[in-house]
Amino acid sequence: MPDLLITGCSQLITLQGPVPRRGHALSDLAIIRDGALLVGDDRIRAIGPRRQVERLPDARRAEKLNLRGRVVLPGFVDSHTHLIFPASRVAEYERRIEGKTYAQSARKGGGIRSTVEALRRTSPVLLKDRALKFLYEFAAHGTTTLEAKSGYGLNWKNEVKILKILCELDREQPLDIVRTFLGAHVVPPEFSRRPNAWVDLLAKRLIPAVAKAGLAGFCDAFCERGAFTLAQARKVLDAGRACGLVPRVHAEQLTHTGAARLAVELDAASADHLEKLNRADIRTLGLSNVVCTLLPGCSFHLGLSHFAPARELIAAGAIVALATDFNPGTSPTVSMPMILSLACTQMRMTPAEAIAAATINPAYSLRLHDRLGSLDVGKYADLAAFEVADYREIPYYFGVNFCSMTMKRGVVIHSKKM
Ligand SMILES: [Zn+2]
Repeated sequence: MPDLLITGCSQLITLQGPVPRRGHALSDLAIIRDGALLVGDDRIRAIGPRRQVERLPDARRAEKLNLRGRVVLPGFVDSHTHLIFPASRVAEYERRIEGKTYAQSARKGGGIRSTVEALRRTSPVLLKDRALKFLYEFAAHGTTTLEAKSGYGLNWKNEVKILKILCELDREQPLDIVRTFLGAHVVPPEFSRRPNAWVDLLAKRLIPAVAKAGLAGFCDAFCERGAFTLAQARKVLDAGRACGLVPRVHAEQLTHTGAARLAVELDAASADHLEKLNRADIRTLGLSNVVCTLLPGCSFHLGLSHFAPARELIAAGAIVALATDFNPGTSPTVSMPMILSLACTQMRMTPAEAIAAATINPAYSLRLHDRLGSLDVGKYADLAAFEVADYREIPYYFGVNFCSMTMKRGVVIHSKKM
């Protein structure tokens, strides 16, 4: 493949600099005005002001792509999704609008368990097809890497079914997919009267088997009333850690459980949700290397007025990231630009902070920051171009997708007519 010279980046948002971004550094996007990139194979070979890059001998010989004034940033890294599921839960959505709470709906046979039942009946081919369509939409909104969890199978056969689909998708389509084992999503129906037996089975057999087969790199647990207790989550995450699966944890979403502190104690890669953090949690997270992954799409979709305390976390020095939490129950969106809008208006993050929290910090939480998450020499040419005059317009025009081109490892994977 010949080299490619990309010019016409009115604002080239590089995110070069410290990794991860904390405190004031979170809003430092390291922007190059009238920027250019030279891409060779799948990597960035040179980056800087257009006049400098154009002068390089390789740049003169390269193919040219003029983006004509677009804003260019690293492809979004969506570090929390539940990509594989069989169908929407639109009836539950409507019930909720009519006044039923999420917990009431879960008791009525809705909730995660209804998705589990349907997934077990759905063939891998159909599940994969659905996921592929959504992956195209992720790419069309500027996402180039995503994390995806199992957790709707909740027995060996169906958890493996999900993880194998994710392996195939990672190989067969352009986006990078990072796999997380979430056997501790909810207690499966077969174990509803003996949840500890399920936790035992996870810790002693399933987690070691997932690790041995190389089916996931991370292990997650949903620590919440109606899901798993703090002690159960600890057992699951400890078992994962013992066989090399790095912990991630669903923490402090609907009730305060102590899971954020557990994440720090276990040196987890990420603590996610965090709507119900208390002051002591915020201080502890601020002093840790645990990425605080905030998922404002959930509160929005559930119609809740309470969002995670992003400002307090940033002030405490915590590593803040943003993700879609793409899932059929609480956050059915693939749109990182929409998540940026929610982060700005509902959590008072600035547009700059939101962009850093959607690129370099989630890359750090997935342990991929040496390869992606910012635009720098030697990193993958993973980028998204937006048809706006200023990067702040990406969250400003909420619900509007101005992503006009997405590139993954040097290949254009989405392009609107320019
Ligand atoms: Zn989740």
